Amino acid sequence: DSVGIAVVGLGDYALNQMMPRFDQAERVHVAALVSGNRDKLRRVGEAYRVPIGSRYTYDTFDQIAQNDGVDAVYIVLPSGLHAEWTERAFAAGKHVLCEKPMALNPAECERMIAAGRRAGRKLMIAYRVHFEPHNVRAMELMREGAVGDLRALRAEQANVFERTTPSENWRLNSALAGESPLEDLGIYGLQAALYLSGEMPESISAQSFRPAGDPRFAQIAASMSSQLRFPSGAIAQLATSYDSLGNNFVDAHGTKGAILLDPATSYSGQTLKVDGGEGRPPRMLTPGDPEQQFAGELDHFASAIRDDSKIIVPGEMGLRDVRLITAINLSARERQTVRLNSDGTVRG
Ligand code: NAD
Repeated sequence: DSVGIAVVGLGDYALNQMMPRFDQAERVHVAALVSGNRDKLRRVGEAYRVPIGSRYTYDTFDQIAQNDGVDAVYIVLPSGLHAEWTERAFAAGKHVLCEKPMALNPAECERMIAAGRRAGRKLMIAYRVHFEPHNVRAMELMREGAVGDLRALRAEQANVFERTTPSENWRLNSALAGESPLEDLGIYGLQAALYLSGEMPESISAQSFRPAGDPRFAQIAASMSSQLRFPSGAIAQLATSYDSLGNNFVDAHGTKGAILLDPATSYSGQTLKVDGGEGRPPRMLTPGDPEQQFAGELDHFASAIRDDSKIIVPGEMGLRDVRLITAINLSARERQTVRLNSDGTVRG
C-alpha cells in the first residue's frame, strides 16, 4: 500500500519539481503538508486534496505523531534546518526523506542518524541523481572499466545568482546554506566524483573566492574550487560558483577512454557520451528518460519502508559527503592541503 508522505516546506523545489511528480511514482502519495504560510497551506492542500486536519504549521507539526495516515516526512527546507526537522520527524515516529545536503556539519548528521536508529525508522537522503538513467549507466560503465584506469575527473556546477542579499535569500545566508555554493550546488560534482571513481579521496586542496563589495556574497563565498586525490592516483577537479555562467557537466578520463555527462545532474536533458579511445568515434548513449529520477527516488524510499529493502543513499552517505564538504571548506580557509581518513574525517 502507498506510503503517506508529509511535505515539510512548500518552496520552489517541493511545489514545482517533486510534488507534481508524486503521481508518476507507484507507492507514495502526499498525505500531509507543513508550512508557515496558512494561505499556501489552503491553496496547496486543496490542489493535492490533503484534508484540513492534515495541514500543519511549523508550530503544530508535532501533532503529526497522532496522524496514522502519515508514514514519512519529506524535508525540503533550507539546508541549515534539515537536522532539527529530521529529529522532530523521528520524534514523531515517522520515516524521513531529507533533501541534500543532509546538514551543514558532521555533528548534525550524526545526531540525525542516531535519532533514526533510536526511533527504529528509515533515513534516506534525496540524492535523485542515483535514480537518473544516464548517471546510473555512467556508474556501470565506470565499474565495467570503460575508461580503463581513471586518471582525471572534472565537474563544474555553476550559475549566476540573481542580485539579492543574504536576508532575502537563504542560499546566500551562511547559517542556512553553509560557506559557499558547494553545499547546495557543488555537492552534485562531489557526489559524481565519488560514484564514478568508486573511491574516497585521501587528500583535498581547495580555494574559494569572495568578490569584495558584492552584496550577494557578504556571507558565503561566490566560488569554490577543489582538487581531490584518490588512492588509485586519480585526481578530481571540482568547481562550483554562484557567479559564473550556467554550467553542469561531469567528465571522467582514463587510460583507455572517457565519458562525458553534459548536462550531468539537471532535472532533464542529460546526455552521455562515451569515447572508446584509439580513434574510435564517440558514442552517444540514451539509457532512459532523465525525468524518471524523481519517481525512482520516491519509490526507492517507499520500498525501504514497506519491504525493508536497502537504501542506496542512506544517512551514512549524507554524513560522508558533509565530512568532505567540511574538509574542502577547511582547506580553503587555511590554504592548506588536508589529509583524510578513509571515512572522510580529517587526519589529525
Ligand atoms: P526555497 O527557498 O524555494 O524553499 C524553502 C522553503 O522553506 C520555503 O517555502 C520557505 O518559506 C521555507 N522556510 C521555512 N523556514 C525558513 C527559514 N527560516 N528561512 C527560509 N526559508 C524557510 O528553496 P528550495 O530550492 O525549495 O530548496 C529547499 C531544499 O531543497 C534545500 O535543502 C535544497 O538544497 C533542496 N533542493 C534540492 C534539489 C534537488 O534537486 N534535489 C533542488 C533544489 C533544492
